[in-house]
Amino acid sequence: MTKRKLIAGNWKMNGDLASNDALVRALIAGIAGMSGSTCEVAVCVPAPYLAQLQMLRAGSRLELGAQDVSAHASGAYTGEVSAAMLKEFGARYAIVGHSERRLYHGETDALVADKAKAALAAGITPIVCVGETLAERETGKTEDVVKRQMAAVIHTNGHCISEIVVAYEPVWAIGTGKTATPEQAQQVHALLRAQLKAATEHCDRIHILYGGSMNAANAATLLAQPDVDGGLVGGASLKAPDFLQIIAAAL
Ligand code: PEP
Repeated sequence: MTKRKLIAGNWKMNGDLASNDALVRALIAGIAGMSGSTCEVAVCVPAPYLAQLQMLRAGSRLELGAQDVSAHASGAYTGEVSAAMLKEFGARYAIVGHSERRLYHGETDALVADKAKAALAAGITPIVCVGETLAERETGKTEDVVKRQMAAVIHTNGHCISEIVVAYEPVWAIGTGKTATPEQAQQVHALLRAQLKAATEHCDRIHILYGGSMNAANAATLLAQPDVDGGLVGGASLKAPDFLQIIAAAL
């Protein structure tokens, strides 16, 4: 089944009211000027800016996402933001299990799986990140690591697994300028596809994105791989011309 590719930007902890306004207006104008059947485009922004972006994106094809979500629905969880709250401010997606959350906030496979479940329960599509560190790759553990991370999400989410988006993000490629080769990306994507296929008959509808120093120059070859259904883009999503070129490469 052919599905439209998905290009999602991850702004990380960047932006302010003025620069967000300029970036989003440029993106919306750029996307509107692209002809033909285009890919899906989203930006995952810091939670306080969802309200601003909800207004700015009105009437456009640009979708909104958050960068994290609580595993809990409500209650005494100071500092956390629930999926229902994100939904009220127009979020369609929420990144879960980004390597920066796993590394700096000690998020475990089980917590990431619970976050994906909480997002799905509120009607938000989790973009579940998996990926190996450089040490894991160099010691031949890539397959085991991504399969273990994916298995936890499959186990917790049962038949709902077909509603998620997966992002393969090798940790060594995030923000480093080192990109996985198209062959390395395809190899892991095919592995994840097979794992998801064993879990759901609706595997074909699951987008598997590549993330890790994707940019205007390397996007086309990565996106041409048969199991690469789009990209999760960090640094390059902060510059409208670069992000628009990646979007154009995914048409
Ligand atoms: C990311 O943060 O998800 C990411 C892929 O970052 P970058 O594109 O900057 O490597």
